[in-house]
Amino acid sequence: MNSSLYEAFRQQRRANGYEETIQKGMAGLRHFQGRRLLMEEDAAELADAGGDAWPEKLTAYRNEQAGKLKEAIAKAEKVVIGAGAGLSTSAGYVYSGERFQKYFSDFEKAHGFHDMYSGGFYRYSTPEERWAFWSRNIYINRYMDPPKPVYQDLLTLVKDKDYFVITTNVDHCFQRAGFDKSRLFYTQGDYGLWQCSRPCHDNTYDNEETVREMLLSQGFTIAADGELAFQADSILGTIPEDAQQAFAAGLLKRTVPSDLVPRCPVCGEPMSMNLRADDTFVEDQGWYAASAAYAAFLRGCEGKRVLYLELGVGGNTPMIIKYPFWAMTHENDNALYACLNYDEACCPEKLKDRSLLLGGDTGEVLRKLK
Ligand SMILES: [Zn+2]
Repeated sequence: MNSSLYEAFRQQRRANGYEETIQKGMAGLRHFQGRRLLMEEDAAELADAGGDAWPEKLTAYRNEQAGKLKEAIAKAEKVVIGAGAGLSTSAGYVYSGERFQKYFSDFEKAHGFHDMYSGGFYRYSTPEERWAFWSRNIYINRYMDPPKPVYQDLLTLVKDKDYFVITTNVDHCFQRAGFDKSRLFYTQGDYGLWQCSRPCHDNTYDNEETVREMLLSQGFTIAADGELAFQADSILGTIPEDAQQAFAAGLLKRTVPSDLVPRCPVCGEPMSMNLRADDTFVEDQGWYAASAAYAAFLRGCEGKRVLYLELGVGGNTPMIIKYPFWAMTHENDNALYACLNYDEACCPEKLKDRSLLLGGDTGEVLRKLK
C-alpha cells in the first residue's frame, strides 16, 4: 500500500468527532423538532427565585442560576464546553462599530460596506485589494489580543476539571488564553491558516509572517505589544485617528504588492482562507487529530456527571454544538445542560429540570463565577 493511500485508510479508521457530533445534532433535531422551547424570560417568570416585578425578578433568577452553575462546575466529572461567536463578541472581538471604523473606514468609503463580515464577502476587483482587506481582518481578529479577558476567566473556572472544548470560532482565542491544545477542537478552521484554494493537497500554512508583511506594505506599523497602528504624518506630526484619515493623508494603501499575494507552493493556484465555507475546506492532520480527540472524550462521558456548557452559540450552526448538546443531555440522566447566551438563552422544555439558562453578557457571568 503506498503511503498516501495508507494515510487515507488510517484516517477513515480514526474516529471522526465532527461527523459524530453532526449525527448527534440530527438526532437532537429529530427528537426535539416541534416541541416546546423554554426561554430564559419564561423560566424566570415561572421560577420562585425572588423579586415581585420585572426586572428584579430576572436579576434574582439569574443570580440563582449562576449559583447553580457554579455548583454544577464543581460537581461535574466532565465538562464539555461548546463555544460560538457570542463568546468572542463578549470578549470584544466585535466586527462592526468602533473597531471597524478604526481599521476599515477607507474600505467603507470606497465600497459602502459597514462591517468586517460583509467585507469578507465583497467581490474586490483585484487580489491585491482583497488581501489588503483580509490581512487587516486576519490580524486584528486573530493575532491582536481581544479587549476583554473573557477566555482567561473561563479557563480559571475549568482548568482543574476534565474538560474539552468544541468551537465554531476561528479566532484562536482559546489557545491564546492558555487552554490545553489537546483539549480543543476547532471545527470550522482558523484565521491563522491558509490552504490551496482548489485544494490540490491537504496541508495548511501558517500565515502570520505574510500577514504582517502585507500590513507593513499598506503603511501600518505594528507596536511592540502587537497593536496595529498608523504612521504619523511626517509634516504635521499627527497620528491619524482612523484608516480613512490615514488614506486621505497618503499614509495608507488599500492594496498589497502583487508578490505578496499568496499562491499554493504545489500547484501555483491562489491560496484561500482555511475556513469551512464550502466543500473546498481542508481538514489537515491537526484537524483530524482534534476531531478524534473530541470523539474519544465524548466516549468517556457516557453515564458520567457531565456538564454541557454552551457559550454564545447562535442559530446559524445549531447542528454542531446546540442540538448535539441537547441530544447528549437527553441520553444521560446524570448530565446537565447550561446555556449562556446574550438574548437567546433557552432549552427544550423537556430538559428544563436539567438545564440552566443564563442570559445577558456571558463574559460578565463568567467573571462573577470565578
Ligand atoms: Zn494547490
